[in-house]
Amino acid sequence: MDKVHESFAKLLSQHSLAIETQQLAQFETYYRELVAWNEKMNLTGITEREQVYIKHFYDSLSVSFFMSFYPIYSVADIGSGAGFPGIPLKIMFPHLQLTIVDSLKKRIGFLQHIVQELGLHGVTCVHGRAEDAARLPQLRDNFDLVTARAVAKLQVLNELCLPFAKKDGMFVAMKGADPSQEIDAAAFSLRELRAELTKVVPLQLPMDEGERHLIVIRKTGSTPARYPRKAGLPLKEPLEVKVKSF
Ligand code: SAM
Repeated sequence: MDKVHESFAKLLSQHSLAIETQQLAQFETYYRELVAWNEKMNLTGITEREQVYIKHFYDSLSVSFFMSFYPIYSVADIGSGAGFPGIPLKIMFPHLQLTIVDSLKKRIGFLQHIVQELGLHGVTCVHGRAEDAARLPQLRDNFDLVTARAVAKLQVLNELCLPFAKKDGMFVAMKGADPSQEIDAAAFSLRELRAELTKVVPLQLPMDEGERHLIVIRKTGSTPARYPRKAGLPLKEPLEVKVKSF
């Protein structure tokens, strides 16, 4: 085990996660392919090996630091880009059935390649807008856990992501610095999408690599038929209470 792997394993052990040699090998292949494909398409601004392990891999796994993943079966990662947080979670917890949704075809192509290279089973990569994918009966109101990192602000994310979660399922939005303003602005969208805020978990990346917050939301009922609205509208006209002026 080299120094980067040693420190990665040690950091994970602090969260009671034991990583095996074969999983480290999968992370290493993922790292190499990410950097190689990044030469021909825009996948990540971070390419230095140790930084990728901390800012992408460890950060992605942080979702599992505060909740047990063993009772979780199905995960949908919306706007996964180069695979974060979905692929690191799948490597660490191979029992997961992972569905990835991204609107960029090239990135879905990269992810299909990664799934094959790493020999992952139970991963479905869907090319399309979340607004359209959430209308597919096999994806709607169906997942134990939905994740999204660096996709949009919370009031938009709620409309893109919550339709995938089943009743009593969870949605975890991965955010950077203090998200309290975003959370306030998202109150109406939460009600509209039949969900409630459970907690906000503050985290610090190792080696002073930054502050993170996980916004944990529980789905309380089925998605109303009118949501999500047509593709593009959640971003263009985020759900919020319209105040009429007289
Ligand atoms: N989650 C990854 C990460 O943390 O590195 C990628 C973040 S990247 C900034 C945002 C991704 O969301 C892009 O790959 C983009 O194609 C995807 N995306 C944005 N809006 C989307 C939508 N409405 N439906 C599906 N994917 C979307």
